[in-house]
Amino acid sequence: MKLRARKVSAAIATVLTLSLAATACGGSDSGDGGGKITIGIKFDQPGVGLKTPDGKYTGFDVDVATYIAKELGYEAKDIEWKQTPSSQRETMLANGDVKFIVASYSITDKRKAKVDFAGPYFLAHQDLLIRKDETGITKAADLNEKKLCSVTGSTSAQNVQEKLAPKADLKTLGGYSECLTSLENKEVDALTTDDAILAGYASQAEHQGKFKLAGLKLSNENYGIGIKKGDADLKAKINKALEKMKSDKSWDKFVEANFGKSGYQNEPAPAIDAS
Ligand code: GLU
Repeated sequence: MKLRARKVSAAIATVLTLSLAATACGGSDSGDGGGKITIGIKFDQPGVGLKTPDGKYTGFDVDVATYIAKELGYEAKDIEWKQTPSSQRETMLANGDVKFIVASYSITDKRKAKVDFAGPYFLAHQDLLIRKDETGITKAADLNEKKLCSVTGSTSAQNVQEKLAPKADLKTLGGYSECLTSLENKEVDALTTDDAILAGYASQAEHQGKFKLAGLKLSNENYGIGIKKGDADLKAKINKALEKMKSDKSWDKFVEANFGKSGYQNEPAPAIDAS
């Protein structure tokens, strides 16, 4: 009896060791090329970063990330996509959960204290999404009397609280798609975040005719590629990839493919910060 138990536990130990080794191997995202790379994106932002019901990944950020990965030596099949919600991005980079993040991630001084950014690769502006029949919201200050939804850890929520409408009844949720449900159910009067994200929601087939953008450029949101603090080598390589992406016109192609249908008026590609 005793002997058998020992044999069994030895066998379990072997299996555990083997599977741990396999995980370490398959999950390798440290070197340049060869293994797998884990990239953080959003899963619920159509046009920007979206995981479709059939398990595909689409959006401008997905295209940009795939292009960068290729320049770093990874094919599309070697990419493992991970959801990086707004409030978790800095922590996930610090923990090494992802190699880099392309997730409507605005470059700010506060975030730069914790992570580094390559880029910027896109310029968006904070705006409001309101129901089609809404007439009482035409400027940011109108929100002081209204119920508003945004996302925890986003610049959008912070801007509302600190400057745009400090008296607004602001509800913060985990993702913008959750806010959209609240807006649809009339639990809130407006959803605020970047216009590029809002345009994607408004143009979805199932939302046709339900919502409109207020068209207010409430902030400048320069999207960067988030990387672990201090990884100067990776930052330089990603900036080089971003330069190439612009010069070979892939940037224009990705913008057209992902924002073309929504009628979103994008800004020109911003200059990359070489510092
Ligand atoms: N770009 C803004 C931010 O980084 C809003 C979008 C988002 O939450 O990803 O906070």
